[in-house]
Amino acid sequence: MKLFDLRGGVHPEGRKEMSAQRRIRVLPLPKRLFVPLQQHIGAPATPVVRVGESVLKGQLIAGAQGAVSSSVHAPTSGKIVALGDYAAPHPSGLPVPTITLESDGEDKWIETDVVMEPLALAPEDIAARVAAAGIVGLGGATFPAALKLNLSRNSGVQTLIMNGGECEPYLSCDDRIMRERAQEIVEGIRLIALAVAAKEILVGIEDNKPEAIAAMQAAAADGAVKIVVMPSMYPMGSEKQIIQVLTGKEIPAGGRPADIGVLVHNVATAYAVQQAIRYGRPLVSRIVTVSGGAIKTACNVEALIGTPVQELIAFADGYSQPATRLVLGGPMMGQQFTDTSVPVVKGTSGVLALLASEIGQAEPSPCIRCSTCVRACPVGLLPLEMAAHIRTSDLSGAVTLGLKDCISCGSCSYVCPAHIPLVHYFNYAKGDLAAQERAKLKQEATKKMAEARSERMARIERERAEAAAKRKAAREAKERAAKEAAAKAGVV
Ligand code: SF4
Ligand code: SF4
Repeated sequence: MKLFDLRGGVHPEGRKEMSAQRRIRVLPLPKRLFVPLQQHIGAPATPVVRVGESVLKGQLIAGAQGAVSSSVHAPTSGKIVALGDYAAPHPSGLPVPTITLESDGEDKWIETDVVMEPLALAPEDIAARVAAAGIVGLGGATFPAALKLNLSRNSGVQTLIMNGGECEPYLSCDDRIMRERAQEIVEGIRLIALAVAAKEILVGIEDNKPEAIAAMQAAAADGAVKIVVMPSMYPMGSEKQIIQVLTGKEIPAGGRPADIGVLVHNVATAYAVQQAIRYGRPLVSRIVTVSGGAIKTACNVEALIGTPVQELIAFADGYSQPATRLVLGGPMMGQQFTDTSVPVVKGTSGVLALLASEIGQAEPSPCIRCSTCVRACPVGLLPLEMAAHIRTSDLSGAVTLGLKDCISCGSCSYVCPAHIPLVHYFNYAKGDLAAQERAKLKQEATKKMAEARSERMARIERERAEAAAKRKAAREAKERAAKEAAAKAGVV
């Protein structure tokens, strides 16, 4: 199949072999699980359980709220012991509303709805079951998967692209799941294609995963699902880039893949979809890569959602030497963290403990205007110019240069010979923009509320005046009638 060129991109050292050679192992059942209500893009889920209640594995413990949200299920059987704030897996480490579940050690599933002929289901039914299972994009985007299916079906998507790129260094969880669970993934892919009525199904896998390619080719031997081998390059696995390489199409600025007839899902999401539809199992676990120079035995583990990260590190035989940086996800786009009691969430693809020698901590020097960052940018932006605007607090200038199209891939920072942390500028500026937009929305909502209040007051005043006028008219009519009656009586 003809592949199209990827603009920019970089070739960081893969370092995947540390974890990729070992089979996925299931993490022992943790004593306590900390399940945040928000593990997805959109509104947090609302608890439907109380402290002290016993639950079974797979039981709904928090329901989706509003149009963009996702439900949350008990990762094991046990007792709810707390509903409150707990440390969250994001850079601030600030606590978020979380359900704490104490395991009873039995790991007993709730009765599930097994479907013998999943491919005979109606598209709407597939999407409804995916929503009920609390599935979100497992590639890192964590967008509710059912919503994506419904939006794609309504906008007439033609091409389904399954992302098996996994271009981030160190990560091998998608590689391993494709090697070990290819049949299930291919069935999940067919179900997703059925849900959106896709005509063409492409699975893009980088050429540095030969075993995964062979396993997927064998599972997809009937030809409806096409396995496409792509060159290894970062950020091949990001949505815009995989679409560009496989179809030659570009998502318009500010647009979505559905605008050009494409839906992209991750291969691990396809596995979760297959488990949800065929076995009725909601998303309660995921495969996580535990790796980095400071980890003794790098590996891939199947961990229950809510498992403290320190248990994954301990399962990998702990640290071989002190880690300089801890990262959730990959080293290019992942999030640094310090508190290892934070839980694994649906979007956790990796737990990395990196040494100083693996992270290049050179001090930044002034820009030498070499344009290397411009050549590396896969979106065709001008990183050095954008950073210059952000440095002078000119956010609108940076937006004009395409800040909102930046995918935060970090390719520009990676190649910069002056070690300027360009992507940090962009993430900081995007955070500022989001805060400004939130403040603007809040201001608009307050203005609307004030307008509605004065309209209500004016209406009450108007109604009061009308009632007073009516009362006055009635009183005058009564007085007139009395006068007329008295006058008549006088005449008689
Ligand atoms: S790569 Fe670094 S030094 Fe070169 S132009 Fe970009 S910001 Fe400047
Ligand atoms: S972080 Fe943004 S500006 Fe830098 S290379 Fe990636 S997309 Fe381009």
